[in-house]
Amino acid sequence: MADHDTLHRRGLMFILSSPSGAGKTTISRMLLEADDEIRLSVSATTRPMRPGEIDGVHYHFVSDAAFDRMIEEDDFYEWAHVFDHRYGTPKGHIRAGLKEGQDFLFDIDWQGTQQLYQKDQQDVVRVFILPPSLDELHRRLKARATDSDEVIDGRMERARAEISHWDGYDYVVVNDDVDQCFAKVREILHAERMKRARQTGLIGFVRELMN
Ligand code: 5GP
Repeated sequence: MADHDTLHRRGLMFILSSPSGAGKTTISRMLLEADDEIRLSVSATTRPMRPGEIDGVHYHFVSDAAFDRMIEEDDFYEWAHVFDHRYGTPKGHIRAGLKEGQDFLFDIDWQGTQQLYQKDQQDVVRVFILPPSLDELHRRLKARATDSDEVIDGRMERARAEISHWDGYDYVVVNDDVDQCFAKVREILHAERMKRARQTGLIGFVRELMN
């Protein structure tokens, strides 16, 4: 929630996209740790859990049948096929949270970004993270060692496709150095919070100021 010493503001939907391996997950984690006004929007997915992942924290891991049911019940803001699985953003408490000044972080791809933006342009801030090179991206995917060569090749191919959508974002940051990249992403978040339209407490404040 907003600091006591700042005016009330509307929350924002902060979208971080990048090809797998460009550092989005690390940057997301750093942001969530450093900033207590932003919370992760946990997606639902039909893909199997990876080592170290926790159900309900990284994703809601659901069956195909459960995902179908969520679509039928209109539980998603947006959903998409990514690789061989489906991923979606449950509406949950996002709408109510935004009103109360809660920010949400979205770790979603370009398809989800487009859908969210179409639904709610005002609240969405789109940030794209680029790797310094495709060689470096390949090296990082290899170093992760959780996926087979075949999966890595698939991710490299998809990385090219994902990168081609860079111009659908408000901000683009090259992740050469993770700390510098993080610092830039934080500056973007801080500046976006200060936008006049988001500072819903301003009207009353200025009215008093003038009296
Ligand atoms: P991963 O399987 O590596 O966790 O994620 C694969 C891709 O799915 C990533 O590019 C990620 O951004 C995307 N993704 C994760 N959650 C969602 C979601 O809710 N909606 C959409 N459209 N994409 C998502």
